[in-house]
This record gives sequence, structure tokens and C-alpha cells, in this order.
Amino acid sequence: MNNNYIAGEWVEGSSINRNINPSDTNDVVGEYARASAHQAEQAVDAAHAAQPRWARMTAEQRADALDRIGTEVLARKDELGYLLAREEGKTLAEGIGEATRAGRVFKFFAGEALRLSGERLASIRPGVEAEVRREPEGVVGIITPWNFPIAIPAWKIAPALAYGNAVVFKPADLVPGSAWALAEIIVRAGQLPAGVFNLVMGAGSQVGEVLARHPKVHAVSFTGSTQTGRAVGIACMSRGAKVQLEMGGKNPLVVLNDAHLEQAVEVAVQGAFFSTGQRCTASSRLIVEEALHDRFVAAVVERLAALKVDNALKAGTDIGPVVSASQLQQNCDYIDIAQREGGRLLAGGERIERQTPGHYLTPALIVDTENHMRINREEVFGPVASVLRARDYEHALELANDTEFGLSSGICTASLKHASDFKARSTAGMVMVNVPTAGVDYNAPFGGRKGSSYGAREQGPYAREFYTAIKTTYTQA
Ligand code: NAD
Repeated sequence: MNNNYIAGEWVEGSSINRNINPSDTNDVVGEYARASAHQAEQAVDAAHAAQPRWARMTAEQRADALDRIGTEVLARKDELGYLLAREEGKTLAEGIGEATRAGRVFKFFAGEALRLSGERLASIRPGVEAEVRREPEGVVGIITPWNFPIAIPAWKIAPALAYGNAVVFKPADLVPGSAWALAEIIVRAGQLPAGVFNLVMGAGSQVGEVLARHPKVHAVSFTGSTQTGRAVGIACMSRGAKVQLEMGGKNPLVVLNDAHLEQAVEVAVQGAFFSTGQRCTASSRLIVEEALHDRFVAAVVERLAALKVDNALKAGTDIGPVVSASQLQQNCDYIDIAQREGGRLLAGGERIERQTPGHYLTPALIVDTENHMRINREEVFGPVASVLRARDYEHALELANDTEFGLSSGICTASLKHASDFKARSTAGMVMVNVPTAGVDYNAPFGGRKGSSYGAREQGPYAREFYTAIKTTYTQA
């Protein structure tokens, strides 16, 4: 049994979570203990008690701990990537890539721990020194989704620890394996004082609620759906806690007539369908300028036909299964809704069987859609993309921005003028030119606008905005 980690001890939970492989539902990846709400409270108390000592340790000690964690994650990237692919369904290559990123994130924040700085200002009063300091927030609650089960926890836990906070981490119920493996490395390789890091696996309605509502949790970093995020945000704000929300997307990729066709097809297929389309940054709306539309669509259909949908762990698989039966049902429902709204399913969208019983769906392309349709307004979160026709660049830009989300957007064009204009006028938090809307660097700020995100940016040096509190001091010598 893989237990929770509370106050420096591995402890049993109140129930058992069987982790099922979506590529082969007969395969039980492992059994994981679900913590109770009371145990989550104990974890918060432990973090609260341990945090001042962690904050008093030197930046170098914290940096060394993160560096050791990063070293072990990188050394075990193949094994961790295998576990990830087995429990979540992304391909082995994608799983190993994600584990590698997690290791690199710890290395990056090991350096950042040493670089945290303040500021000295010229006081308006004679003889007075004015200083701006950055201090830890205290106890940080970390709530993560299932689609990046090791990278997202890493990019929240690493900066939280780097800047002297204590952590209570609650992973998604669907993917406890990667989270548990990461926690075990953090605890052992990091050699952290008891209580500085706690793992509480379990249901959002139990454990997640405690993190959102507990008065000793000073800051909550959440990634997940917009609906849950808003509820977590309201709970935090109502008690004055700091909160950061990374939520859904309906990301547009604009393809202009002057785009390099082969490149645009690759950017669209990569962005929309890889990782089974289960990425908050996936290009789910392909907005194509009139003259290129038919050729682009035909080339995408041809490319999709060549992709192998199969067991995530099998060599040669391009697209693994959907994560769960209910997510598969949701994807199929949206494909039906799109067709009832007038969209035409041109490729994929079929449940298929493979050697092992899993949640397999061929990548679906829906054409002749309008931006007001539900398929273009709501996040599907699967290998499903729709195509919209644009009269010209201005029309494409208008369609791209006409969404309540604003995480990522992209454009494929050879025109510097249109690329520059799109970067300036897109209402998304991240804008890509001739690269997929999904796929970001860990040393750059990550986050969206409008309904996709709330609060400070994640990743890169910008992460310190969330994980530190500012204090202004004045001294008369
Ligand atoms: P979800 O909202 O169902 O769950 C996210 C986390 O919140 C889970 O750990 C869950 O257990 C927890 N939770 C559920 N109810 C809670 C409650 N009442 N209080 C506190 N915590 C609670 O999301 P999911 O299905 O795991 O993930 C998919 C979603 O995540 C998609 O919408 C996707 O776009 C989004 N996502 C966003 C980003 C981003 O950076 N913007 C990245 C990855 C995923």
C-alpha cells in the first residue's frame, strides 16, 4: 500500500484508491491510501509547525535539497515516465519527457532559491532606509489535476519549497502513482525536516476542501477545471488567503493563407491531438483562412489517418487512450453535440478496440463549425478539434479572441506583420507563432487571462510572486 505522508510519517488512509491503467483496464497500477479530511487537517497543522524552521534554514540548504530531488528524478526519468504513461495514458515518450521536465524544474528552482532578492529604495525622508523584502507565505496548499501528474506538482512544489514555504500536496484522485513516487523522492532525497512537505491523496470534496478552507493554509495553488477553480478561489478569498488558479482553455490556432502548409499541419496536429488532446493548452479551435481551408483540412485528415492510437506503453503508439471511461463519454457527447449543431465529423471520433481493453478514441476533426456552437465555447479536454473558416486575418483574430478563455493562442503565417500584430492583439496569456499552442518552457512564465487563470503567473522566476510575500521596512539609523 502506498500511504500518505503526514508530519514526517507514512500513514494509512481512510479508504483505498485502486489506480487503473487506461490502456488496459485489467491492469491495476497500484493501491493508494485516500486521506480523510481529518488527516488533511493534521497535515496542515504539521506544515504550520514546521515552516518557520524551514524558512530559517539557509538558501543554500534549501537549494541543495531541491537539487538532490531534481537529480534523483532525472536519474529515474525512464521508470517515472513509464509509471506516468501507465496510469495516465500519454505515450511512453511523452511520459519520459514529462518526468524529465519535472527533474529540470527542481534543478531550476534550486538556483532560484539562491537568487531571491529584495530591493533598496531611496527614502523620501532624510536618514531613513527603505527596503523591500520577500518572505515565505507560510503554508501552501497545492491541488493538481490528472493530466500532468508529475510536471504540474513539480512546478508548484519546487518554488514553494525554494522560497521557504511548507507544503500540503493533494494530487488528483485518478493519478496517485506519479504523485506518490515524486513525494517519496522529495521526502527521501530532499531530507526535509518533518512537516515541511506533506502528501494527502484523496477526493477533492474531502481533502481539497480542507486546503481551500483551513485558516492555517496561507496560499493555495490550484490547477484544474474552471468550475472547481472558481469554487476554490471563492473559498480562499472569503478567508483572505492568497490564491492562484490555472483552469481550462479553448485555445485557437489561426492558420493564414501564407502559412507553410506542412508546418501548419504539424503544429495543428501536435497541438490539438498529442497527449490525447488532454492539455489545457491544446489547440481545440483551428481557424483557417478561406483560400487555404480545404487544402489544410485535407492534409490534416491525411496526417490523422497515419497516427497510431494504441496502448500508451507500446512502441510506435502516437496517441494513447483517454484517461477514463467518464472522460471518454464526455468526448463522445461533445462530438454528438457538435454534429447536432451543424458541424461535420470529417475524421475520427470512433471508439476503437485494441489488444488490451482501454478507453481508445480516434482523433476527431469537425469541420463547418461556427464560433457560437458549444463545441467552440466549452472545453472538451480530449482528442477533438473543430475547424472554423475565416474570411481574412482580421476575421480570424476576432474569432480567436471571441472566447471566455484566454490561456494559449497560436498563428501559423509567413507574414511578420501578421505575426507581430497577433502577438500584440491576442487576448491569451501565451501566444505562439509557428509553434504548437501546447508546449512551453519551464523557465518562462506560464498562465492565461480571462476565464483561464487567476492570480500570479507560474514557472520561471515569476513564480516568486505567488510563493513570497512582500514586506516593506523603514529604518532610521
Ligand atoms: P478538476 O477540477 O476536476 O480537479 C482538479 C483538482 O481539484 C483535483 O485534485 C481534484 O481532486 C480537486 N478538487 C475537486 N473538487 C474540489 C473541491 N471542492 N475543493 C478542492 N479541490 C477539489 O480537474 P481535472 O479533471 O483533474 O483536470 C482537468 C482540468 O484541468 C481541465 O479543465 C484542464 O484545462 C485543467 N488544466 C489546466 C491547466 C492550466 O495550467 N491552466 C493545466 C492542466 C489542466
